[in-house]
Amino acid sequence: MARERLYLFDTTLRDGQQTPGVDFSVDDKLVVMDLLDRLGVDYIEAGFPGGNPTDAALFAEERPTRATFTAFGMTKRPGRSVANDGGLQDLLKAKARAICLVAKSWDYHVRVALGCSNEENLESIRQSVAAAKAAGREVLVDCEHFFDGYKANSAYAVECALAAYNAGARWVVLCDTNGGTLPGEVSEIVRAVTKSVPGDHLGIHAHNDTEQAVANSLSAVDAGVRQIQGTLNGIGERCGNANLVSIIPTLVLKKAYRDRFETGVGEAALANLSQVSRAFDEMLNRAPNAQAPYVGKSAFATKAGIHASAIVKEPETYEHVPPESVGNRRRVLVSDQAGKSNLLAELGRIGLAVAKDDTRLDGLLREVKEREAQGYAYDGADASFELLARRALGTVPHYFDVLSYRVIVEERGGDMISEAVVKVKVDGETFLNAGEGNGPVNALDLALRKDIGKYQRHIDDMELVDFKVRILNGGTGATTRVLIESRDGKGNRWFTVGVSPNIVEASFQALSDSITYKLVRDGVSP
Ligand SMILES: [Zn+2]
Repeated sequence: MARERLYLFDTTLRDGQQTPGVDFSVDDKLVVMDLLDRLGVDYIEAGFPGGNPTDAALFAEERPTRATFTAFGMTKRPGRSVANDGGLQDLLKAKARAICLVAKSWDYHVRVALGCSNEENLESIRQSVAAAKAAGREVLVDCEHFFDGYKANSAYAVECALAAYNAGARWVVLCDTNGGTLPGEVSEIVRAVTKSVPGDHLGIHAHNDTEQAVANSLSAVDAGVRQIQGTLNGIGERCGNANLVSIIPTLVLKKAYRDRFETGVGEAALANLSQVSRAFDEMLNRAPNAQAPYVGKSAFATKAGIHASAIVKEPETYEHVPPESVGNRRRVLVSDQAGKSNLLAELGRIGLAVAKDDTRLDGLLREVKEREAQGYAYDGADASFELLARRALGTVPHYFDVLSYRVIVEERGGDMISEAVVKVKVDGETFLNAGEGNGPVNALDLALRKDIGKYQRHIDDMELVDFKVRILNGGTGATTRVLIESRDGKGNRWFTVGVSPNIVEASFQALSDSITYKLVRDGVSP
């Protein structure tokens, strides 16, 4: 039997933006869109063009995503024509392929929030959908508070859904906006709605207020919906949205779904899931949840004892899915042998082929463990890991020596100025470089990259994109971890890490790794 298609709709950049402490720039959004495209979601709802200047700028240009680039906004206000509703007009001008309109579907909200009649709200839905369709967009309608609305007045809630569907919306999305609905109720209500709107035009948008957003989404699929909305790592307002990082592997790997449905996420993309999830956390500058299902560091970890010995012999005995299928790894916290096979897998991933019995592996493994204990996190810093591995295997040329560096921070006429001086030696020749910046790291970066002799032309197109600091343990002796993202003119991006009790030293390690990595990757010979 042919499998049915399930569509994944990501709203990390719109609903996820409601997370306290999360604020995406246009550049951040482009990076996340790239992660989402690699994963294979079908829709990327990237923002609310009428809502803020960042999203206005994002939607001022067409974005060549593989997924359908979607703008979010409201249905027209009652009492205004489509042509006279500025918000809706902005939305229609957004350079998006799809438009997701949010509409009221609870009569209580229609009365209190909109202050109009039930019929006027239905008319707003019809006219807004028709206008978006006439503008050539695929249309989705988020029925806000649908489940609560259904419980209060089921006939009206269904009428709202039908109004959207009959006006030509491709998807009518049933939203559990308060996140308080339970899986049994979701299933019952969705089943009833499919009698009016066909399931392959229905979507589910669940919030996590009873920690069942994932369960509610799956329950809705079981009852007939064919689109799931959610976010990366479940970010979102209050307790978050449905976590796509948990939903996707369940749909792809679990027999109950795998046999009936297919999604846009292939096996290769699924094997990137852990990396995508961690990269996203790094971007938010927060520590990944070690206990996150499928992708957490502890998701496949077993601590000593009978489980550990059994798991080495036959992993299936204790694992519900193979960790590699989601790009995670097994951690048996007792045997060095397991550490070695993880390391080999990691080396394979970055394209370094090493024989299992290569004696250099033991030294590298010891070094990785020591450094991780000091606070280095290589999951978020591939480039530093690759350098460490290549150094252990003797394949990193010696490009330059840093003889000394210093930074001065000075208050000058009301401004804070930082000056850095870096002395490097290249091929017997010494270069003394100075840089001035708005902070010590900026100054060091400019000084270090100013002149490294014959290698300079290879790093001219490099720039520091992002810089994140995390304090690893409290107190005055705290260790600082600095993560730096760099990019070059070809659009390559890489991450390096430095750790030290001194933030300047940690930054310098990450900066100098970044330059060395660029030279190694471009195959520059010494
Ligand atoms: Zn929501």
